[in-house]
Amino acid sequence: MSVAAASPPAGAAGADCDTAPAHELPAHEPAARNAGGLRNALTVDVEDYFQVQAFAGCVARADWDDFPARVEANTDRLLAQFDRAGVTATFFTLAWVAQRHPALIRRIVAQGHELASHGWDHTRADAQDLPTFRADVGRTRRLLEDTGGVAVIGYRAATFSIGARNAWAFGALEAEGYRYSSSINPVRHDLYGSLPDAPRSPFHPAGTGLWEFPMTTVRAGGRNLPCSGGGYFRLLPYRLFRAGLRRVNRVERRPCIFYLHPWEVDPDQPRIAGAGWKSRFRHYTNLRRTSARMDRLLADFAWGRMDTVFAGLLADPS
Ligand SMILES: [Zn+2]
Repeated sequence: MSVAAASPPAGAAGADCDTAPAHELPAHEPAARNAGGLRNALTVDVEDYFQVQAFAGCVARADWDDFPARVEANTDRLLAQFDRAGVTATFFTLAWVAQRHPALIRRIVAQGHELASHGWDHTRADAQDLPTFRADVGRTRRLLEDTGGVAVIGYRAATFSIGARNAWAFGALEAEGYRYSSSINPVRHDLYGSLPDAPRSPFHPAGTGLWEFPMTTVRAGGRNLPCSGGGYFRLLPYRLFRAGLRRVNRVERRPCIFYLHPWEVDPDQPRIAGAGWKSRFRHYTNLRRTSARMDRLLADFAWGRMDTVFAGLLADPS
């Protein structure tokens, strides 16, 4: 199976999106002027500081329960921040977290956010074979639905780990009841699934009716530059980041997808022993600035849940 779009993403390229009522904003809203009248998708990958790929080499999964858990308190900080800003978001959540913090899952749902899947325990999608992956995403979806009491239709692979080698993952997701994935970050990166030339706009992976909503990138110099959050949001000047999102909204007329992690608003998290300089730089730089930057981002653009922002596409049976 190829990961390429089954057909040119005509309806997926944004034309359908732009006419969907869900992301058209009243012109008098300041955020609407910034974003060309579009609403963008705000997403959170709900995992704890010791579960990230950058530390996988020095933190064994079997030891996770020995670390002080901070994901619940940090996610609550984000929930409070989103509440103050009057925005809703999609929370791609590990089953591992949902099992240990079920009340948090219910608060996410009660506050109007979308509950979605980040897999069972952050095992990379491209480190699993098809039956293992299918079992992982199936039981994660069932656990999240039982815990949250709502339907779960969205999935994001750990570390954007769907690529050319494991494009079969899309068929497995569809078979397990998912409607969309947001698992491709089409940039060059040493940890992500390697698909720098994947479509930059929503598409149906070949042979499926599933939607893939790729992370936001900006075209410059013939390359895709990352503009969807994570470490780049903390490392790059805010104005540069804002300019990238504005460009996608105003010039390409497409909604953006932004993501962050609960541990990114936690400068006091315990430091992981034995991590290399690159991992430490990626994980710890500018943690103290994230909350204030998020306040600006939430004010500068209009935000919503994935299933709302892309409601027009998800309602399209083609
Ligand atoms: Zn993750």
